[in-house]
Amino acid sequence: MNIMYKSTRSNSAKVTASQAILKGLADDGGLFVPDQIPALDIPLSSLPSLSYQETAYEVMKLYFSDFTEEELKHCIRGAYDDKFDTAQIAPLVKKDGAFYLELFHGKTIAFKDMALSILPYLMTTSAKKNHVENEIVILTATSGDTGKAALAGFADVPGTSIIVFYPKDGVSPIQERQMVTQKGDNTHVVGIVGNFDDAQTGVKQMFGSKELAERMNKKGYQFSSANSINIGRLVPQIVYYVYAYGQLLKQGEIECGDAINVVVPTGNFGNILAAYYAKNMGLPIETLFCASNENKVLYDFFQTGNYDRKREFFVTSSPSMDILISSNLERLLYKIAGEDPETVKGLMDALGGAGEYQITQEMRDKLTGFVGGFATEKETADTIRKVYKAADYIIDPHTAVAAHVYYTKAADTSRKTVIASTASPYKFTRSVTDAIDKEKYDAMGDFELVDELNRLSGVKVPGAIGEIRTAPIVHDTVCDKSEMQQTVERILGL
Ligand SMILES: *Cc1c(COP(=O)(O)O)cnc(C)c1O
Repeated sequence: MNIMYKSTRSNSAKVTASQAILKGLADDGGLFVPDQIPALDIPLSSLPSLSYQETAYEVMKLYFSDFTEEELKHCIRGAYDDKFDTAQIAPLVKKDGAFYLELFHGKTIAFKDMALSILPYLMTTSAKKNHVENEIVILTATSGDTGKAALAGFADVPGTSIIVFYPKDGVSPIQERQMVTQKGDNTHVVGIVGNFDDAQTGVKQMFGSKELAERMNKKGYQFSSANSINIGRLVPQIVYYVYAYGQLLKQGEIECGDAINVVVPTGNFGNILAAYYAKNMGLPIETLFCASNENKVLYDFFQTGNYDRKREFFVTSSPSMDILISSNLERLLYKIAGEDPETVKGLMDALGGAGEYQITQEMRDKLTGFVGGFATEKETADTIRKVYKAADYIIDPHTAVAAHVYYTKAADTSRKTVIASTASPYKFTRSVTDAIDKEKYDAMGDFELVDELNRLSGVKVPGAIGEIRTAPIVHDTVCDKSEMQQTVERILGL
């Protein structure tokens, strides 16, 4: 089966997987979606015997149909190697009745590594296949974790350079430090005075500018995106849900065909969308729990069918989910609108203009299978403490948002539940130790807390943390949210 990609916003010509990866976003501003969601073509009973890499191949070969077996295996081998601190790549651990799918064993200790360690391989392979001569400029907005993971993936990759924008006051100290110490001659990091949505909007505007694209092309550059709107990020994220199902079988927790639940701490809706695709491929998933922090625009959407971004923005302890415009939701809207691009375009125009949209009852009826939930800051902290007390296991604030939704909405179902555990607690030491015992840890410095967390959890300090302790700061550019394009032009010498 040959899967092609089309835009969510118009019936323009279809493109191949490699072209969709290179472009990132469709010309009409829509997102690329596969023209059909392929079914898994191996029996579920074979999953327990597959390694992570083998599972990755079985999933990705279905979506990246214009890659040869050799090309795809090369990408997978290069990505999922000893950059990860465990051979399992994504271990599934049972704690207090739930199954935590640990997606933070890569280089930058957050789940973005799962896709961003393979994206540079997919991108350079795609460039070769399409005879691209230009240098590919990866332009990315980050709420904290994508930025570092993309920088780590693309640093010194020939034929590419990368520019990352992050909200100057909207990421954790460790996240910021990880980015501003990034090595690599082709890496650029810029803090903006604004929030993540501002950064994402600015990046989308640059992608949409034909005039800028032409000037870039003259200088031998073209943009691509490492954001989760890129199909080259979405597809690798499907893999670990399939892998988790195999692990549950292997651990004797379920029988072949048993349905499971999945809880995903959600921001841009990429991770949970991957779980939804996995379900549509035939993986037995009953309910997808979409867990939000206090920026609960998605919770409200699942409750009412109304998506309203006009609301107060909260900076929370789970900054990678401090998002009011969840880009990947567009791909779900496309599905529930019966794949009608006109409907999607109408909704997206309304979101851009009036700042809200309402879906029809018919569309809402197709959202069964999703349940929204959210955690306040207090509930998040309480859950970190609760899991620590119950299971001697320390989770980060993002995972805790999901765990709260698990305890309040999923724990009493008879289904086994997988919680996507999206970051190492070491990335958010202050929030985590505050949750456990604020009085005791309040006065300590960030790196002191690292040692404290090590003592509390018994989990080895990840290499990513050790490195940034001593690494010099090499990026200090800051600009206003209105100056993003000028900054890019200056960096590229346009
Ligand atoms: C990016 C991120 C999320 C949100 O994932 P989306 O795919 O944007 O919904 C959750 N947790 C962490 C730690 C992240 O880095």
